[in-house]
Amino acid sequence: MKIILLGPPGVGKGTQAVRLAARFGGAHLSTGDMLRAELKNSTPLGARAKEFMDAGELVPDDLIIDMMKARIVQPDCEKGFVLDGFPRTLAQAEALAEAGIAPDAVVDLDLDDDAIVARIAGRRVHPASGRVYHIQFSPPKQADVDDETGEPLVQRDDDREETVRARLEVYRKQTAPLAAHYQAQSGLPYHHIEASAPIDEVTESVINALGG
Ligand code: ADP
Ligand code: AMP
Repeated sequence: MKIILLGPPGVGKGTQAVRLAARFGGAHLSTGDMLRAELKNSTPLGARAKEFMDAGELVPDDLIIDMMKARIVQPDCEKGFVLDGFPRTLAQAEALAEAGIAPDAVVDLDLDDDAIVARIAGRRVHPASGRVYHIQFSPPKQADVDDETGEPLVQRDDDREETVRARLEVYRKQTAPLAAHYQAQSGLPYHHIEASAPIDEVTESVINALGG
């Protein structure tokens, strides 16, 4: 199954994407994780992306589209994929369509801003694996360390409150219009899911919407 996960930063796309990829098979493709890996490896792409990510802005379309085009043809995507954080602009959605990649379903997760800020404020990540925790809603077994490796968890640089507000603004202006874009595509199932429930309940709602 080829699934596009839409929704504002912090709504729970990455959390649900891991579960959906496990449930339906296929790869979890997070452009945010891919960019953070480029930064960590000090690649030219990472260097170009950094200033945009630090400011909470979108990385230019051409860079993202090239990165995603190279990733989506890898063998682990043959069985399907869950796109998490891509597309984020109409140009990215059009590039995906032009590459001949048609999603089977779009899932749009929705949450109010105060709840988003609370989710992002408590988010902790294991940088090497991309595993995501929340200090209150999804805590690690032992405070501040990754369950699998015992390595320290960190807070993302762009999860500071002032950057979060900028990211929400960017989402509203540049990404939210994608909902109407996909809703207008006949024959493409579009599911709007209210994501305020606990993690397991949201997973259940999404899997039910996708037909189990
Ligand atoms: P996104 O990928 O959309 O930015 P994440 O999946 O990283 O969002 O989730 C943001 C934060 O909210 C994480 O700390 C995660 O553990 C937490 N979270 C995700 N889904 C829920 C939920 N349904 N209820 C409470 N917290 C959640
Ligand atoms: P995320 O991990 O999805 O919250 O993304 C973190 C940051 O990476 C965003 O704030 C953007 O700066 C950048 N980014 C991730 N995905 C995209 C995308 N599809 N288009 C542009 N920028 C992106």
